[in-house]
Amino acid sequence: MNCQYGERENMDSSRQQARLQEAKAEVLSLLKILSDKVDLERKLGVNYLQLDPIIKDSMPYEEDVISQPLVPESVCDNLDTFNEETNVELSRSEKVEELRKLEEQVKRCTKCELCNNRTNVVFGTGDPDADLMFVGEAPGYYEDEQGEPFVGKAGQLLTKIIESIGMKRSDVYIANILKCRPPENRNPSADEIVMCSPHLIKQIEIIRPKIICALGTFAAQTLLDTKESIGKLRGKFFEYQSTKFLATYHPAYLLRNPDDKKKVWADIKKVRDFLQE
Ligand code: URA
Repeated sequence: MNCQYGERENMDSSRQQARLQEAKAEVLSLLKILSDKVDLERKLGVNYLQLDPIIKDSMPYEEDVISQPLVPESVCDNLDTFNEETNVELSRSEKVEELRKLEEQVKRCTKCELCNNRTNVVFGTGDPDADLMFVGEAPGYYEDEQGEPFVGKAGQLLTKIIESIGMKRSDVYIANILKCRPPENRNPSADEIVMCSPHLIKQIEIIRPKIICALGTFAAQTLLDTKESIGKLRGKFFEYQSTKFLATYHPAYLLRNPDDKKKVWADIKKVRDFLQE
């Protein structure tokens, strides 16, 4: 009796060992899949993270915004705009044509719920062959109405910032991370970023600016794939996919915090000096 009991115990224990081994193997294989996926996304230049909700028009200090890591579904599934062919430098007319085709696609985009309430897709505007590209967050009320980025009060300030370095709006390219307006200008959700950021990535690939200037916390953190505050990121040169990158405060933040205009002036002069090198 005792012996039978001992044998059964041994069998149970070896079954348990076997199950444990199977479970370990499964976890290891899942980790491998996950790590391959992350590697691929990084190679494709897809960086994204979710930020805490920012009500842009009432945000007191951009530096107070704390972001959270994003746990999205794979962005690779949404990269139908990614095209290896655009990895070569295009002529101006090719850039015009590629952007036109991309804009047509984006205008039909229904990948997230923002499409339901948009008046216009706000694709981007400016010189398709620009050396300098500005990236903001998302369209607001006026941008949604007019289908053009940065046309409200913050946009008028951006125009002044551009003119302060001797350039015109038409000399640069301006786009946003999101192409459709989030309701009440709320912060984009993780899913919206995942669905929409491939459009911006493709725009950058086509335009191939010499330098990208990110406006505000959201654009800087998303493109640099970091949670660092804009206060720490601004005014320093980084690289985004081998393109020079500099972040500064968002013009909407400056409207509420005019004392920080001098910091933006210092930042934008760095951009000008880089372009004049
Ligand atoms: N703020 C942005 O980030 N983008 C716009 O287009 C307008 C306001």
